[in-house]
Amino acid sequence: MIDVRCHVAPLRVKTLIVLGALCAMLLAGCASPPARASVGAGVGAQPTGTPVAAPTRAPPPTATAFIQQIAATALPTVAPTPDRQAPPRVGLQVGHWRIEEHPDEMAQLRKFSGVYYRGYDEWELNIVIAQAVQARLEAAGVTVDLLPANVPMGYTADAFLSIHVDGITGATAATRRGWKVTMPFRASTASQGLAAAVGSAYAATTGLPADTEQASNNLRAYYAFASYRYWHSIAPTTPAAIIECGFMTHPADRKLIFEQPELLAEGIARGILAYLAESYPLSAAARAPVGPGMLRANAAGATLYTRAATTSAAVVRVAAGQRLVPVDMVAGWYLVFTHGGAWDLGWVRGAEVVETGEGLVPPQPRPQE
Ligand SMILES: [Zn+2]
Repeated sequence: MIDVRCHVAPLRVKTLIVLGALCAMLLAGCASPPARASVGAGVGAQPTGTPVAAPTRAPPPTATAFIQQIAATALPTVAPTPDRQAPPRVGLQVGHWRIEEHPDEMAQLRKFSGVYYRGYDEWELNIVIAQAVQARLEAAGVTVDLLPANVPMGYTADAFLSIHVDGITGATAATRRGWKVTMPFRASTASQGLAAAVGSAYAATTGLPADTEQASNNLRAYYAFASYRYWHSIAPTTPAAIIECGFMTHPADRKLIFEQPELLAEGIARGILAYLAESYPLSAAARAPVGPGMLRANAAGATLYTRAATTSAAVVRVAAGQRLVPVDMVAGWYLVFTHGGAWDLGWVRGAEVVETGEGLVPPQPRPQE
């Protein structure tokens, strides 16, 4: 979905956010649903909110002879062995699939359908890729959960991968392309390994370039990762990553997405299997998220900055006792979300906060199962 306002408003840290139109980066928590913007066939900038009517749907995704040849290549097997009592379990989330099922705590996401191109909503491409990944993983002995946008509360698995495709309008629509894989904030070593393995295998298998723009903070704060914000999120001990498979708005990427989805799936499956072959079964240490528990502003209050420097712009001043979620650290500084309310994101000096020993859980009461 394409609405730049939505990129900026939730976090209020303009210099921390890469402005673009990434399908999932908005999902950290737009305060209001963005207007539907369509992406026409091969065209560049479109005025936001001006749908481009497509006369016909694009051809459906198909497998080519080349892909069939690739698919015939044996995949590494991760079958149970005497040391592995149960097969590994992997959750594959189909980005934006069944968004109408989002619970009340994330009701703003119910209208967030992702990228749209020539009659296709993003989830229709995501599910073709995800199902092809599922088939490959199951053939290799992995138990797979195909998950919609709404994930079960505290979902636990040996790996969780959210699958999306991307899109953009504006000046860079003709040139912006490529894939990206990123991991949650506070990523465990297992999440880091998963993201690295998927990225490496995906690039090698598909030949697609990496997106030259780095993953945004919004993408790392993807709602399904945000157990500090939403109850309907994966357990922080579930190794996780999110992949943007390519840009539907770039001709070369689009050709692969529509005509060779099984090649994309092959790259993803190989990456997950390489990660499992290296890491499974996972230790508690490998699953443990990195970083301290809940912080609070000290008795004098605290200031959040756009960068880890008091010379950078102030984001917001918070009162004494304000709960803050630490998501990253550098020497003497924490990158934090304000817990609840506007969910402001910024850097705070370590001297202005105290560790509380409180867990990182959402501010609202736990909903009924
Ligand atoms: Zn998406």
